[in-house]
Amino acid sequence: MKVGVPKGLLYYKYYPFIERFLIELDAEVITSRDTNNNILNAGVKYCVDEACLPIKIFHGHIIDIKDKCDLLIIPRIMRVHPREFICPKFCGLPEMIINSIPNMPKVIIEPIYATNENELYNWCKKLGKMITKDKRKIKGAFTKALEEQRNFKFGIKDEGYKKNIALVGHPYNLYDTFINMNILKKLNKLGVGVITEEYMEEEKINLEVETLFKRPFWTFARNSYGFTTAIAKNNEIDGAIYISSFACGIDSVVLELIKEKIGDFPLLVLKVDEHTGEGGLDTRIEAFIDMIERKNNNEDNISTFRKHTSCS
Ligand code: SF4
Repeated sequence: MKVGVPKGLLYYKYYPFIERFLIELDAEVITSRDTNNNILNAGVKYCVDEACLPIKIFHGHIIDIKDKCDLLIIPRIMRVHPREFICPKFCGLPEMIINSIPNMPKVIIEPIYATNENELYNWCKKLGKMITKDKRKIKGAFTKALEEQRNFKFGIKDEGYKKNIALVGHPYNLYDTFINMNILKKLNKLGVGVITEEYMEEEKINLEVETLFKRPFWTFARNSYGFTTAIAKNNEIDGAIYISSFACGIDSVVLELIKEKIGDFPLLVLKVDEHTGEGGLDTRIEAFIDMIERKNNNEDNISTFRKHTSCS
């Protein structure tokens, strides 16, 4: 059986799991191509206007493979942490797609609750049954897929750069180089190293989140808030760039909370949608790095001045 896996949304984080699971079931995995202009245009054409860019792009990935597979996975990911949800758009993703894109193949739209192994296995059993009747094979495939995911190193931590910034945002905005116009390469070229939330200990993130008057309902909000405010507090690095999707409700709330907490810690918010131009993005990044450099130089001058005046 040919099973389609769209290369959008949380694909970047969980592809080792899903691909290994399908391979172990002897399915042929059909992955869509890396995001490109055709995929974007198809997504914009079929998706509702109000959706954010990652959801539009996901529609484009569906168009890219829907006619090449017998079964298509539309990941309705509900939870990856207890008592939290991913995003309302993830919850309704299958309905959005089925109602907007004609001539769809067979799809799996069962909700995925991945807060523990048992819950995830329940979803895998449903998918597995659509491919094989062999229950032992499904169990074996699940074990191998879990192992593959556990061995997968995810996240960015550059070393050896004089200036370093935190790159914040949803995984698809950070790891889809079409959406972020290859921001990692641009920053490295400017002599700036990058760190992402995966390299911060969970406890540090949780400590920050606990200071909020209300527990965040959305996992993305919890991670972005905890990571950015912890980095700002510990003054570990020079600044943060938040890649935000235009029309993302979660981002609009969490960004206000972050700004309120971090004071004058340098933060650049890059809002992306299908109209974002690379030239404008480059200019904003360069100006931000320039600003960080000037700030650092000023601080160096002030501390040298203090040292001299206290000596004399
Ligand atoms: S969290 Fe925001 S960017 Fe991600 S799918 Fe939901 S609305 Fe879109």
